[in-house]
Amino acid sequence: MTSSSVEQSVHAYQIVHQRHAIERIAQRGIREEDVEHLLLAGETIKEKAMKCVICKQGETQSGTTTMTLEKDTTTVIFKKVPTEVCETCSEAYPDAATTRHLLHVVEEAARAGVQVDVRSYAA
Ligand SMILES: [Zn+2]
Repeated sequence: MTSSSVEQSVHAYQIVHQRHAIERIAQRGIREEDVEHLLLAGETIKEKAMKCVICKQGETQSGTTTMTLEKDTTTVIFKKVPTEVCETCSEAYPDAATTRHLLHVVEEAARAGVQVDVRSYAA
């Protein structure tokens, strides 16, 4: 997969939580090509006790969240997604590897004609 196709597939989805992770990446001043490199390499961006960019009060800690991803007419609800979670407002910050896995699963579900699916996250 080329970096441009990664970018296209990221933009093709409506991502409920990931937009905030992208905001976080933007806020930290990481260049777009570095983010793509991390996506392609399957590496994760990790930080300890990150300040939440949504409420600007809480700090994040390891936890799990429920995420809903849509593509075309397909909706997949993932439970127990491992992610950093804001202790104050519960905003979630999934890493690049997790996001890529979620996108892959939604892509397959859309191809299979799934309308709604609820599943537990599994790497
Ligand atoms: Zn917060």
